[in-house]
Formats: sequence, structure tokens, C-alpha cells
Amino acid sequence: MTPAFWSPRIAALEPYVPGEQPRIANLIKLNTNENPYPPSPRAIDAIQGAAEDGLERYPDPESTVLRAAIAARHGLDSRQVFAGNGSDEVLAHAFFAFFQQDAPLLLPDITYSFYRVYAQLYDIACELQPVDDALRIDAGALARRAAAGCGGIVIANPNAPTGIGLALAQIEQLLLACPERVVLVDEAYVDFGGQSAMPLIARHPNLLVVQTLSKSRSLAGLRVGFACGQAPLIDGLQRVKNSFNSYPLDRLASAGAVAALEDQAWFEKTRDAVVDTREGLALQLEDLGFEVLPSQANFLFVRHPGHDAAELAAALRSRAVLVRHFAQPRIAQYLRISVGTREQCGALVEALGEILDAH
Ligand code: PMP
Repeated sequence: MTPAFWSPRIAALEPYVPGEQPRIANLIKLNTNENPYPPSPRAIDAIQGAAEDGLERYPDPESTVLRAAIAARHGLDSRQVFAGNGSDEVLAHAFFAFFQQDAPLLLPDITYSFYRVYAQLYDIACELQPVDDALRIDAGALARRAAAGCGGIVIANPNAPTGIGLALAQIEQLLLACPERVVLVDEAYVDFGGQSAMPLIARHPNLLVVQTLSKSRSLAGLRVGFACGQAPLIDGLQRVKNSFNSYPLDRLASAGAVAALEDQAWFEKTRDAVVDTREGLALQLEDLGFEVLPSQANFLFVRHPGHDAAELAAALRSRAVLVRHFAQPRIAQYLRISVGTREQCGALVEALGEILDAH
């Protein structure tokens, strides 16, 4: 029952399904694309150091040190970087800042489900551009539609939950199709094999690139995300943040994030382990009869021609292995499997083998 004092907009919101974060012992959790490896030990030291020194003080409202670290990593200036509490918060601010326009925001249909939630929250009209038969974003069709007038474009690259990436030339096609509107490229998974659009920032004032430390830097629990773009776009985000009077990041998060960004060796080692495991897992799943989409992310999107995906997910769950199933009709026959450690992926393959044999 919806309380009468809720506004209609709130009443229409779907609550997040807490079932994706259950508290079960010995769970093999391959359902929310977390990194199976811990963050850099240097990040943990830095967080401990920050906890012991200065928590009685408010954090730096400008996140100066963190923004400088992000800027240095991407060859940008600090004024081209905005930091927030996870990329989800950065995305929410970006939707508020840029997409309340007189024409609809364009989104691919299939993509990260939260984009539509933000649009709904902020009363932004959306138009969905279907992905092609291979579940690829059709950049040409999206660009043609954008050129006819739009409120902006949001894509995930690599896309979620397919894992399929677009090439930079295709991103550029989108940027040129609507130079007066923001094109937001969400690169949550780009470090696992995608092509980052960061080098296009210098040439395209309408490009906003959003990244996160949740995935390739193993810091989902710390909540650090950021956006990069030319200074006027970043000023727009800053204005939204200041209007909410929210601090971007607490002292622990900033300290941990800076240390994680500096530990490139840890980043490369863990990223390479995830990518190697992904490639091995893809072959093993193919051996079991799955079709595996080409992934540039830390997950695989797969389907089995002879088995119902929802049933497979339920059977895995009863063996304490969690993978993600989406009820949307177009992808209801697929499972999204986050790449775990080699041991976790081995256990997944074994469980799937048993389940398939039993049918
Ligand atoms: N974008 C995409 C495409 C994602 O899959 C996720 C994680 N579920 C996010 C953004 C948000 O990540 P975070 O808020 O942890 O940075």
C-alpha cells in the first residue's frame, strides 16, 4: 500500500531488489560484477591512516587531492574532473544537470537499468533505441536519431549487461551527431578490455566520461566514482552537488581512492587475472553448450539453447552460487555471470555441469 502522502512520482518507483545482496555463508557471489580480489594493500593502509588522523574534521569539499590524482592518471586538468560517492551518484547528478531538455534523452534498449530510474526521478523523457540482433548498440541508428534532435545520449561502454564494447569511432559518431547535447559514456567496465573515450575529451565539449573505482580497483565498498569532461560540463556537475549541499567524498574514501589509483602494479595484476579467468570461463561455458557473447567487461552474458535461464539461476542459487537473471523479455534467456576467482569460476562450472546433466 502506498502512503497517501507520497508524491505520485515516488509511488511509481520500483525499490531495488535486496535479493542481489543476500547474507549467506560460503556464497559464490557472481551476480553484481564486483571484483573478486581485494583492493590494493596500499589503499587499505591509507584508509587506516586516514581513520587515525583527522576524522573529527570535515573532508575537503573540493576533493582536491583525489581529483588531481584522477586528472594525472588520465592526462587531464583537475578542473576537468568531478568526484562523487560511486558512479551511481555521479550519474544521478549528470542526469539532473544535463538531460532536462525539450527533446527526449536517447538510451539503448538494452543497457544499465538505472539510467531509466534517474530519468524517472528527474522527469526526463527517454526514447529507447533497440540494440541489434546480436545485442550490439547500433551506433549508426543512434547517431541518425540524435541528429534529428534529442536531449542527449547515455550509453555504457562496454555495455551492461552484455559486455559488448563500441569502438571510439562509433562514440565520435554520436558526439558529432548532437554537438549541442551531452553524450555521457559510462565506462564502469572499460578497464577490462574496452576502449576509453577519455582521449576524445579535448576535441568534444559535449563528452562526459564516467568511471568508477568499484570494479577494476576493487573498491565497491568505498563508493568512489568520477566524471571527466571539459571544464564547463564539470562546473555544471559541481553546481548540482553544491545545490544539494553534499560533500563529494569522505576522508576515508578519498585517501583509499588516491592510494588505489597510485598502485598501478596491483591494478594490472588483478585486472589481468580477471581477464584471463574470463577467457578461460568463456571456453568452459561453451563446452557446456552455452552461447557466450564477446565480453570486454568483468562478466559474461550467456544463454543455453536447451535450458531456461531463470531455472538455471534458481538451480545455481540452491547450490549457493549467485548469478544474475533479468526478467526483461529481450534478454530473459540470458544469464550474466561476473568473473570470480579461478576457484569460484571452477565451482560455477562444476555446479552448472551437474545441473545440466540432471536434466
Ligand atoms: N554503471 C554501470 C554500467 C554499472 O554496472 C554500475 C554498477 N552496477 C554502475 C555504473 C555503478 O557503479 P558504482 O556506483 O559502484 O560506481
